[in-house]
Amino acid sequence: MKRQSIFIGILVALAHYLEAQGVCEEPSSIAQAIWREGLQTPIGNRLGLPTTHVVIHHSNDPNLVLDDYTPLVRNIYVYHTQNNGWDDIGYNYLIDPNGLIYKGRDPQGNASQDEVEGAHMCNKNENTMGVCMIGTFINVLPTRAALKALYTLVGWKIRKDDISVLGNTPHAIGPTSANLPPMPLANICGHKDGCQSGYTECPGDLFHSTFDELRDSVSLYSSKCGVSFVETQELDQFKLFSLGGQTQVIPPKTYHEIKIYNLRGQLLLNQNFGDEVSTQGLPSHELLLVILKGGDKELFRFKFINP
Ligand SMILES: [Zn+2]
Repeated sequence: MKRQSIFIGILVALAHYLEAQGVCEEPSSIAQAIWREGLQTPIGNRLGLPTTHVVIHHSNDPNLVLDDYTPLVRNIYVYHTQNNGWDDIGYNYLIDPNGLIYKGRDPQGNASQDEVEGAHMCNKNENTMGVCMIGTFINVLPTRAALKALYTLVGWKIRKDDISVLGNTPHAIGPTSANLPPMPLANICGHKDGCQSGYTECPGDLFHSTFDELRDSVSLYSSKCGVSFVETQELDQFKLFSLGGQTQVIPPKTYHEIKIYNLRGQLLLNQNFGDEVSTQGLPSHELLLVILKGGDKELFRFKFINP
């Protein structure tokens, strides 16, 4: 696919550009106001704490193939708040099989998204950032798109907070009311690692067995510094742009609008999918933010350099 290879080339160029610039930003994610729309507002005061551990979960949902996983995220929110009686969804972030990242527990302006204290590790949530991979990973692994999003998110986080990817830090092991001394816990760990033996099988045995590779991949992504890569298969599916000139865009049904902004937030292009989209006249060699919308929802965003 010529167009695909061109686009991959753009992403490679972007990676080099970001490495050269030392840019490292939090990957884009879907805001609570979008996925939580129409549901009850969470309650409670929020506390922000520095992170020592990134704790990875699975949601224990069936491994469905969907265009939009927002209903599952909403279900988790409803389950945590109404069934479990928690103040809010437990995790800091969630990642769906399409590789989209959702902001989880609402910091309510009192903390950053990655540092707001959640409810996800057997009552010992202090200093943890919880990331939930949507699905069940006892016998299968998360999709490649989901794993890349995870590497990008955690890669950004460990760089930002200077967390040693292969290190251990003492942490309380739950759930217990006994005042046991903290135990060494891998800085990037699974839910069950932070709990007493047999308490949970989260994040699933097969997925958990790959955590050494996961740490290597996080380290690699961290070194490339926070680029939200798009899966090549998805690139093919999106059929976004070619180099200059007229390009026919054939989007998946769920996306119907595209907006392109420059770094100063100026809207450069706002067009419906299915139309002929021209990138001619857009500033060259500039980092642009692209937002794909379906309905009123922002479904996906990424950055690239317009050739
Ligand atoms: Zn879990």
